[in-house]
Amino acid sequence: MLPNSAMAATDPFKFFPGARMSSEVDDAVAAALDARGYQKSNTLFAHSVCSDEVNFAEKELIDLMRKRWGESFTLGGLAGVPFAGKAGLSAYAHHVPDEGKLFILFAPHVGVGYDGKVGAIERAGVVSGSSACGAAVGAYKTLSKPGAAPPSDFGDMNDLQFDYIKMKLNPKLSGVKAAPNDMAFVTYQMYSMVKEAMLGQIAASPGIWDDCSELAVLGGVQINRCNAIGEPIPGGGGLAVLGGVQINRYGQTGAAAIPRGGNGDGWSADQEVRSYRRAAYTKGSWRCWAGCRSIGTIQSGSQYRGA
Ligand SMILES: [Zn+2]
Repeated sequence: MLPNSAMAATDPFKFFPGARMSSEVDDAVAAALDARGYQKSNTLFAHSVCSDEVNFAEKELIDLMRKRWGESFTLGGLAGVPFAGKAGLSAYAHHVPDEGKLFILFAPHVGVGYDGKVGAIERAGVVSGSSACGAAVGAYKTLSKPGAAPPSDFGDMNDLQFDYIKMKLNPKLSGVKAAPNDMAFVTYQMYSMVKEAMLGQIAASPGIWDDCSELAVLGGVQINRCNAIGEPIPGGGGLAVLGGVQINRYGQTGAAAIPRGGNGDGWSADQEVRSYRRAAYTKGSWRCWAGCRSIGTIQSGSQYRGA
């Protein structure tokens, strides 16, 4: 099946302006980190992305970064939430060479189907279509059912991750009905959820500074795309870079830059830094990763990006 002109004209990044192809992000991040002394020999890469196999396809961001940095520590579970928790983060920090550097990518993901549908993706042999992120779509559908009781507890010990996602997503859904695209809105809320969890765990884990000299955190939305028969388009996905910080034990400011793109220009990381400056560190402090863009609070459906 060949794409018709309407399909071919669909912009997969319509709701994620400024998204960069995976290879561009990998190259730009590597250049930025290299300037800060991050080398394969002294850096350990970690990712907090969803378990979905589509995120690990060849030439996608995780694959590229794993090959560049050599290894990776898995912090994420469903929807990209860092379910490894503080214990996982501490273990990760213990594994880096002494006085080495940590680099964490966190990113919820979203499929953009062949017809441009946000939250959908073709998978080989699945005729009925499929969701991505399935956990986010599933949580949103469950919470949107008429009369659905708000989740308040871990009700099922065999489904802890999904229960967490429902609890955290529920209060973030106000405004979704006014959104031009509900799944794009939900995806940005998932970014917010994952960011809060990731940065919260870092703030609550001062012991990691005994193991490393610096930590770089990059956040965004990973976009998945497949062709009409469900084969991942090699390198066809991308990352909407939404924020980044460098945290130096000694409080030095990083000068690394990630190229900006599209409608995201004009964003600064100041807001990101302000939000987390109050976080309690014993040794480290948040510093702006110049050139990274950040995302503001999403207050309404039409305002995906803060001002
Ligand atoms: Zn997922």
